[in-house]
Amino acid sequence: MSLDGTYDYDNIFAKILRGEIPNVTVYEDERVLSFMDAFPQSKGHTLVIPKAPSRNLLDTDPDELSNLIQKTQTIAAAVRQALKPDGITITQFNGAPAGQTVFHLHFHIIPRYTGVVPGPHASGQMADIGELSALADKIKTAL
Ligand code: AMP
Repeated sequence: MSLDGTYDYDNIFAKILRGEIPNVTVYEDERVLSFMDAFPQSKGHTLVIPKAPSRNLLDTDPDELSNLIQKTQTIAAAVRQALKPDGITITQFNGAPAGQTVFHLHFHIIPRYTGVVPGPHASGQMADIGELSALADKIKTAL
């Protein structure tokens, strides 16, 4: 999947947005959904996606992108307050050669803890749903 191409309405995040696949929700409004990454690179790895379909940062509407990064800031602040990480990595990949594996625009919020090496991107262990729910509850409380 290069940078070109059309939006695939059967990608995993499109299915999550339609409620066809479950997710552990952190935040939702009319334009944005945020949920726990199911294969987290660190404790509290959270994703933020627009509801409008776009593959990546380059083909999204600028106004959607502005809203998305502002919501990402808000949710990152809640992650900080809830989980007290020592740092936070925000990532976003465009195209498979850049590391993108799900072709619906999203930002990663990856809490970082001193001395803890983050897990591999998109190839780690599936997390325990109970643990993800407990983390999401803490983040929601901080929002
Ligand atoms: P990227 O490689 O930047 O496209 O990121 C896609 C992210 O989606 C990865 O971090 C995956 O762990 C995550 N992911 C894949 N499937 C699911 C799912 N069903 N629920 C939550 N996160 C997922």
